[in-house]
Amino acid sequence: MKKGWRWKKRLLKRGGIRLASVAAAVIVALNALPAPSSASAGVPAGQDAPKEHTVAVVIDDFGNRMKGTAEMLRLPIPITAAVMPFLPTSQADAEAAHAAGKEVIVHLPMEPVRGKASWLGPRAILTALSDEEIRLRTEAAIADVPHAVGMNNHMGSRATADERVMRIVLQVCKERGLFFLDSRTSYKSVVPKLAREMGVPLLQNDLFLDDVYTDRHVGGQLLLLKSRAQKHDRTVVIGHVGPPGLITSGQLAAAIPALRQAPVRFVRLSELLPPTAPYPLPGAELPGSASKDSDPESKLREDSPTSR
Ligand SMILES: [Zn+2]
Repeated sequence: MKKGWRWKKRLLKRGGIRLASVAAAVIVALNALPAPSSASAGVPAGQDAPKEHTVAVVIDDFGNRMKGTAEMLRLPIPITAAVMPFLPTSQADAEAAHAAGKEVIVHLPMEPVRGKASWLGPRAILTALSDEEIRLRTEAAIADVPHAVGMNNHMGSRATADERVMRIVLQVCKERGLFFLDSRTSYKSVVPKLAREMGVPLLQNDLFLDDVYTDRHVGGQLLLLKSRAQKHDRTVVIGHVGPPGLITSGQLAAAIPALRQAPVRFVRLSELLPPTAPYPLPGAELPGSASKDSDPESKLREDSPTSR
């Protein structure tokens, strides 16, 4: 009986070895399969997804027949058009962007610390407004921009630092199924904290392309984008139609081939949202987190005037 037990044990051992080698062969076969892209496989960021350097280009300030509108919509990359509500071409620009296959978000005018009220455009979100009026204006803005899947702030260095104001704006986004892109015009923004707490999908701007309206500056920012994108999986950049519109669209068009060779894959903004979590998990790398500690307001910017 003892002998029989040993025999069985030996057989099991051999079987185990055989099973192990079969398992190894299966693993080898699986490794030989083409790696799925992180987007199609739905692999959460930070896990075993293959490294990919994705960049979302957001263009702000559509909605007022701004310079560079047609040029931006012709770019051969999936840009995201941030359209200001309540302006003469808000709806036409949103429709044109959608028809060109671009993603659309609401570019919500919000109160800055500095800057002229005339730069804000109509029905802006001001910190002096009542809860009810902030809700009404946010809902009306969404209704005014067809095809919008998300929202970001136009200016807003004062409003995005105000917890009462942002709680209402983010609550409306949540109810309407919109994500929020923090343009990061203020290092005091309460948006990351509130979005996490409220479960609103959040993205953050990493780099403004056109603070200064010159080819030299925009070209330099695009070189910065290239080096940043080579080190990070996800990068969000913001450019503008309007005063820098023709410069930025021209520089972008010229830089696309080199960026693709970097290699960078251009994506819609919504493709950078975490696939499984409603908001970035604490400690997860968030687009923009790399520059969070170097946050002097001077490095950020308010948007360009839109109603000149
Ligand atoms: Zn803007």
